[in-house]
Amino acid sequence: MKKFFAAIVTIILMTAAFTTVLASSYVGNANSKKFHYADCSMVGKMNPANKVFMNTREEAINAGYVPCKRCNP
Ligand SMILES: [Zn+2]
Repeated sequence: MKKFFAAIVTIILMTAAFTTVLASSYVGNANSKKFHYADCSMVGKMNPANKVFMNTREEAINAGYVPCKRCNP
């Protein structure tokens, strides 16, 4: 029974983490101060340490980020 509950908790935590990633529509680069759509090809090349996840465009603009010229968010 303990194993069963451990499995359930693991699934819930994984689902929560996955949902957090999906909920972030925009990804900013803390180094270049540019932001992208989460599915922009530049996001894949970005250093994970520089990634800043944002939910809205306003959030990115207010934080001083400029839109990427490639994905034009
Ligand atoms: Zn981009």
